[in-house]
Amino acid sequence: MGTNAWRAGRSAAGDLLLGAVCPGCREPGWGLCPGCRAALTVSRPALAPTGTGPVTVACCPYDALLSHLVTAHKDHGALGLAPVLAGRLAVAVHVLLRGCAWTGPVVLVPVPSAAAAVRRRGYDATATLARGAARRLRPAHRVVVRRLLAQRRGVQDQAGLGAAARSANLDGALRLRHGPRRALPPGAVVVLVDDVVTTGATLAEAARAVEAAGLVLLGAATVAAAADPRGPARRRPDGSAGGVGGSVRPAP
Ligand SMILES: [Zn+2]
Repeated sequence: MGTNAWRAGRSAAGDLLLGAVCPGCREPGWGLCPGCRAALTVSRPALAPTGTGPVTVACCPYDALLSHLVTAHKDHGALGLAPVLAGRLAVAVHVLLRGCAWTGPVVLVPVPSAAAAVRRRGYDATATLARGAARRLRPAHRVVVRRLLAQRRGVQDQAGLGAAARSANLDGALRLRHGPRRALPPGAVVVLVDDVVTTGATLAEAARAVEAAGLVLLGAATVAAAADPRGPARRRPDGSAGGVGGSVRPAP
């Protein structure tokens, strides 16, 4: 068994051992509780504010629930959350395709994490969500997943950086990998996918790399969008999440 597979197995075991509370609200139970699951499914996809980044549809506000779920999935090996998060990503991709009236072939391109982070986690969280979303989108949409992008050099962790610092940190940071491009379906457009969009700086850099390679970019889709680039969206007094196009869902 390779080191990465061993680490993924260890993460899954940790998920099992530590999974006796809901990863969304910490209530006792196995896996995501019905309340958190319902809260996820009533969120409405909306355009995310991405500044200079591509047109981006996010399925959910990046509120406390989404922050817990994304972090548990990406950083703590809660692999059992992949299906539900991938389902939300699929909804965002579907809304983007419908909004653009695109019915041709689509290549989902996960925004790459730093290679060191993937090695540490033993798991490429975003690529896993992309593959799960593609399975849900077929056969209604002709979708494949290609990990076209790679990080060109060591990039700082974006967390805690402001918009300008993120942009500078990522300038020229992504490049197109060589191999996977040969297998692209003819006439396909690229949809970038990620778990969370914060300032849009990462998606803007990914869009630059894709377009510089002569590929056609339709837009981007994410599980969640932060209204406030500095962290999870705060709730308004009426219980709605601020910022993301009026998405409303009950508190978990
Ligand atoms: Zn819960």
